Amino acid sequence: MGNRRPLIAGNWKMYKTSSEAVETARQLVKHTASAADVDVMIAPPFTALSAVSEVVKDSNVFLGAQNLFWEKEGAFTGEISAAMLISAGCRHVIIGHSERRQHFGETDENVNKKMKSAIKNDLIPVLCVGETENERESNATFTVLDKQLHDGLEGFSADDLATLVIAYEPVWAIGTGKTATSDQAQEAHQFLRSLVDKRFGNMLAKSIRILYGGSVKPNNIAELMAMPDIDGALVGGASLNAETFSQIILYKE
Ligand code: PEP
Repeated sequence: MGNRRPLIAGNWKMYKTSSEAVETARQLVKHTASAADVDVMIAPPFTALSAVSEVVKDSNVFLGAQNLFWEKEGAFTGEISAAMLISAGCRHVIIGHSERRQHFGETDENVNKKMKSAIKNDLIPVLCVGETENERESNATFTVLDKQLHDGLEGFSADDLATLVIAYEPVWAIGTGKTATSDQAQEAHQFLRSLVDKRFGNMLAKSIRILYGGSVKPNNIAELMAMPDIDGALVGGASLNAETFSQIILYKE
């Protein structure tokens, strides 16, 4: 994976009250204190961000949000802006997760607006892309990835995207226990990197981190990470337990 520093990120989805999130974050900080060659990020629910930020502030665990809204402020009941996330201690934000696309009608156009807001406010975006089972079965995987990446990154230059992280998350592998094989994941990652190369140049293509997401567990992380274009993981279910998540983070030890 060249000189790219791995990133293992945990998406806690709509799990954990604030006190539960604080407790899990505390254990995670303790278990991963020795993790020197890897970045770790957790994305708890919005209600737990401020409290968890106190727990992780002097550790090597970064705080991220699961979503944001693109407007600066205004009459947008229920939404959260980039500035609010930063004030709650976030450095990263997940954008375009397939659950947002599936259940909340998020489009590539929405994703692009969210990307613009994140970059403008110096949040590190983790842009999620991935095909459904039907799309894979009808050989549309590359077409879908191409469109999601193209439209999500519309209007950006290579310089704007220096911190961008892409997460390849095949929808059929999320929360299903079905992991893409390391060869399937590598093929998609290599394709995504080639798209970045064509559009934004080789420098960005070489430095950009592409994470794999979809039923990552302690027993499959090593095989995935051995692939040349896999630079880390976005972990859902297995990130909810500090011990299990630490085993993924410390898979080399
Ligand atoms: C996710 O939420 O992004 C995810 C990949 O979930 P899981 O690891 O549970 O499949």
